[in-house]
Amino acid sequence: MRLTTVMRRLLGVTGTIVRDAYFADDGLVVEVKPSWRRPRCGRCGRRAPGYDQSKERRWRHLPFGSTLIWLSYTPCRVQCRRCQAVCTEKVPWAAHRSRFTSPMEELAAYLARRSDKTSVSELLGISWRTVGAIVERVVSQRRRPLAGRALRVIGVDEFSYRKHHRYLTVVVDHERREVVWAGVGKGAKALKRFLDELGESAREQIERVTMDMAGGYLSAVHKHLPQAEIIFDRFHVQRLAGDALDEVRRAQVRELEGEEAKQVKGLRFVLLETWGTGSRSAERGTAHQSLPLPRLPAQRILGHSARLSPTQAGSSCVAGLAGLGQS
Ligand SMILES: [Zn+2]
Repeated sequence: MRLTTVMRRLLGVTGTIVRDAYFADDGLVVEVKPSWRRPRCGRCGRRAPGYDQSKERRWRHLPFGSTLIWLSYTPCRVQCRRCQAVCTEKVPWAAHRSRFTSPMEELAAYLARRSDKTSVSELLGISWRTVGAIVERVVSQRRRPLAGRALRVIGVDEFSYRKHHRYLTVVVDHERREVVWAGVGKGAKALKRFLDELGESAREQIERVTMDMAGGYLSAVHKHLPQAEIIFDRFHVQRLAGDALDEVRRAQVRELEGEEAKQVKGLRFVLLETWGTGSRSAERGTAHQSLPLPRLPAQRILGHSARLSPTQAGSSCVAGLAGLGQS
């Protein structure tokens, strides 16, 4: 088998012809060229007439063991009618304007999903900023356009970074279990940007929106998705219910005296455990029998409803929880 054929197979990039290979100071340089005859526009990918010759360029490829691999080619510039511009021709092994081959960018993006940017930078020997640029490029190539997508059940949440000084709003498609949109900022304004991008007909298809109770997304959903059912995050509801229960318990401790106050005072953890997920009680086999109490809007959770245990003090808590539901 010829050396160039071996090299082409080892490189694993399609649409590429290997012309030669030689060792340089910084690794193995493989001279390549596109397999198509007529040059294509680097921006839109259409065939375009050549304009002039550019300089030799190198693209960093996946290393063979400890040896760095470089693909070398001298591209021409093309005059594209569609883009109405002169730009560098398209090459099959790399994205436009990238100095890394597509397999190398895929690897960097994959590692960035599993680790932090600094680790990826050290492992691959590329700068921290370059890792960021690669990740952006790969994500934009893979991202499906949002407009017109069929979304029925979505979830919206915010994430903070830079020590809670900045926020990202993230929208997920619960049915396909994937992130469909992310934007800087939080609250109704950020969600409005997503809904604008989605388009009117796609907005009308949304049936349910899940969110937590502190996100500030409620007004945007009420205004722009009037048909959608709002489902609050289960854990927020449980935490608020637990707080309400504790508030009622404290009020009763203040009202009662002597032995009665002592008994209610010591009930805190028993009540919270009963009210919450009940996991610890369940583990010990002491879970109380649960009876459904009147369903509040906040209790409807994707097929689950919070079931409350009717202890004497637990019943008192309903008043507190009903108050929370209205606030
Ligand atoms: Zn073009």
